[in-house]
Amino acid sequence: MPRTQQQRLDHRARLSRAAPTAYWLDRPDGPPAEPRLTQDTSCDLAVVGGGYTGLWTALLTKRRHPRLDVLLVEKKTCGHAASGRNGGFCSPSLTHGLANGAERWPDDIGLLQRLGTQNFNAFQDDLATHGIDCGFTRSGKITVAATPWQADAARSIQLTTSHLGALNEFCWMDLKTHDVPGTAAFFSTVLGWRFAVDEDDWRRATKIFAAGHQIGSVSDLSAPVYPPGTPAHIAYYLAVDDIDARTEAATAAGAQLVLAPFDAGDQGRIATLIDPVGAVFSLWQTQPFNRWLPTASALQRMILACPSPEQARRFYQAMLGTVPGCADFVLASGAEGCVPRWELVVGVEDPNAAATRARGLGQEVSYGPDRTAPGGQRLSSPDGLTFRIRAGTA
Ligand SMILES: Cc1cc2nc3c(=O)[nH]c(=O)nc-3n(C[C@H](O)[C@H](O)[C@H](O)COP(=O)(O)OP(=O)(O)OC[C@H]3O[C@@H](n4cnc5c(N)ncnc54)[C@H](O)[C@@H]3O)c2cc1C
Repeated sequence: MPRTQQQRLDHRARLSRAAPTAYWLDRPDGPPAEPRLTQDTSCDLAVVGGGYTGLWTALLTKRRHPRLDVLLVEKKTCGHAASGRNGGFCSPSLTHGLANGAERWPDDIGLLQRLGTQNFNAFQDDLATHGIDCGFTRSGKITVAATPWQADAARSIQLTTSHLGALNEFCWMDLKTHDVPGTAAFFSTVLGWRFAVDEDDWRRATKIFAAGHQIGSVSDLSAPVYPPGTPAHIAYYLAVDDIDARTEAATAAGAQLVLAPFDAGDQGRIATLIDPVGAVFSLWQTQPFNRWLPTASALQRMILACPSPEQARRFYQAMLGTVPGCADFVLASGAEGCVPRWELVVGVEDPNAAATRARGLGQEVSYGPDRTAPGGQRLSSPDGLTFRIRAGTA
């Protein structure tokens, strides 16, 4: 509603006695001004500006190099400018919101989020370490939509945060097989995937491509790193922010540690565990490289069928602090429950045609209790690597 002349005058009258001083400085218990610098001086490091940037620079320098003589010069009063006048909202986002960051830097958003969280945690630690009483509360945040366009925005944030490949979601698969050429031939024919050696990869891994996107890698189980007799399987990786902390949380919540966190070349750190319902999974604190991208539409959902899906869900929530949004925990039917394992639902244009191609290569196609449900059909390669398939790639 346009403001009337009278309303404008009222506002001006009300503001006429306002003091243009930062609220926290304009209080009896506000910190006194430091003495003026009135003469030449020398130091090891001079920091100009007493806002957050300058004060933190000086603080971190003294912490790292306590013997350095650090001088901070401020032209007015420390904290009188933006640092003393802001809204007081602390957010781990380095990109002014996740949706904004994901739109502009889709390939780097995982790293940006992780760095933002590290930054936020370090900020909180600093307040505790230095006894800074600034009324800090780690309250969390709720996004409320009151209009249809706000609801659309909230939905798009939800899609951004919970796609396969995002933080706290499954983000990669590695097909571990005794027969790399046979596996490649099978899935190329049945699902139309392309297999190619990645010359840039630190171990020259064979990568899998669907519609131009990298969707996984292939490992040869005859390599000496694998114990003899390891059966063919698919390793699925969950993207985590802090692998050591998540591994600790996992074992505290009942997981069994198979491989403690280790450095995987230049690609981050990996750990492998068995969850309390018996499904194997790996954690991956990735470097920003070939994780599943939101645009890789062949990758649809992860499903864990087991006798106690609620127990499984509670475990993943305890380990990650959140339930992966693209994972379904379902009650196992019949023989499914014998060996609980994570399975990927792959979107294909025509599942029946894919099933026919698999049968043409001598493979059976099995069906869950509801063959029309997402991932109701399963097909396996000759050495038993199994995917669920469903119609559609969107
Ligand atoms: C209205 C408002 C609301 C905001 N709300 C939020 C929020 O809710 N959450 C959030 O995270 N961020 C918020 N921000 C942003 C945040 O406050 C700033 O990004 C942050 O304070 C910048 O800190 P700074 O140290 O870089 O700059 P400043 O706080 O501006 O400090 C710079 C200092 O340098 C001094 N200086 C400049 N030139 C010289 C010189 N030649 N010699 C000596 N000293 C000099 C100035 O006097 C000043 O004290 C808000 C900003 C504003 C203005």
